[in-house]
Amino acid sequence: MIPSNANLTADRPSFVTHLECGLTGERYDADTLQGLSRVGRPLLVRYDLEGVAAAMTKEALAARPADLWKYRELLPIRSSEHIVSLGETATPLVTLDRVGAARGARAPIVKDEGRLPTGSFKARGLVMAISMAKALGVRTIAMPTNGNAGAAAAAYAARAGIEAVILCPDDTPEINVREIAAQGARVYRVNGLIDECGAIVGAACKANGWFDLSTLKEPYRIEGKKTMGLELAEQLGWTLPDAIFYPTGGGTGLIGMWKAFDELERIGFIGPERPRMYAVQAEGCAPMVRAFEAGERHAERWEDAHTVAAGIRVPKAVGDFLILDAVRESNGAALAVSDDALLAAVEEAAGDGLLLCPEGGATLAAYDRALADGMVGRDERVVLFNCATGLKYPMPDKSRTLDRHGEIDLASL
Ligand SMILES: *Cc1c(COP(=O)(O)O)cnc(C)c1O
Repeated sequence: MIPSNANLTADRPSFVTHLECGLTGERYDADTLQGLSRVGRPLLVRYDLEGVAAAMTKEALAARPADLWKYRELLPIRSSEHIVSLGETATPLVTLDRVGAARGARAPIVKDEGRLPTGSFKARGLVMAISMAKALGVRTIAMPTNGNAGAAAAAYAARAGIEAVILCPDDTPEINVREIAAQGARVYRVNGLIDECGAIVGAACKANGWFDLSTLKEPYRIEGKKTMGLELAEQLGWTLPDAIFYPTGGGTGLIGMWKAFDELERIGFIGPERPRMYAVQAEGCAPMVRAFEAGERHAERWEDAHTVAAGIRVPKAVGDFLILDAVRESNGAALAVSDDALLAAVEEAAGDGLLLCPEGGATLAAYDRALADGMVGRDERVVLFNCATGLKYPMPDKSRTLDRHGEIDLASL
């Protein structure tokens, strides 16, 4: 445990009442192990929000340590002993001042999720999923990953004493593959994409009695990712920005934040106003953008998916309708950007001192498009999600060399 953090030790109630199918609304028991609903769609966690409103005040929250466990009343963990923590700190809001100035716009705000354990926001989802899996007696978990989710799963599974089996596409960033193995998981490289890894995981879980921790195929990763929305609202003084740009793969974070805003309104912490939600994808894998533009509620699989932004290379998402509903209800949009544009954005943000991951760069590139198309105003308050530390990705070598034995022209350095 992390010493002297009251969020991890204090007895605080959870107000979970039940689970509910995101598509049909059918009810499920919350205190048994659950996967997808009967119609194969994600289960959402429901709370006694009147109970939460009576138990949790803004003042009490302000006095608690700044991590995601401060929102316990709105989280599914019923007993502190089940928390499996690696220090899930609140992540900072960092303005891109030069980026803003170059566009004559209010500086966009980056929520820098790279500060979390294992260097990505996957920690938020996996800390919750693994803590719940532990609470419900799971011994082995399995999941497909494009890298960061597997790394977070491996770390929290190690912490919890749960066995982890991780399958990833064979071109997953090398650092992730090694990180997963270093943290004690069995990792397999598969000659296919993440949904194809997911199909093998599903079969292996059935055959071996393992628990399937795939994105949205169990109810609790959303609850962990939801804390991005809770934390953002609190950091902005219980207001919300005008627009949020979110790099969208499986969409857990976008769905989770949308759920968070709803719960915050229903406990009286915020009003009915909402940010416009922009789901950002890469041009080489943009199933949500295609469905959004076609007016569809479900997205078809994207064939031959490719992009350098591995975290958003997700050809098919089981929560497609939840992503598209949130984007539409919020008056936002789904936007695709090219790999060149997202890499250029990474380079530009580095000029503000912040090393984004490629997926984070995609949000800045999409912000530019939205600005150019008049979807976003120059004076609006915009939040971009940088979902992983840029340190986990390859960087171009721009170094020069010096010969210490030769003559060095110091004035030219
Ligand atoms: C997983 C991941 C995403 C996509 O997140 P979802 O909530 O699954 O859509 C974006 N960026 C990075 C760096 C990721 O690891």
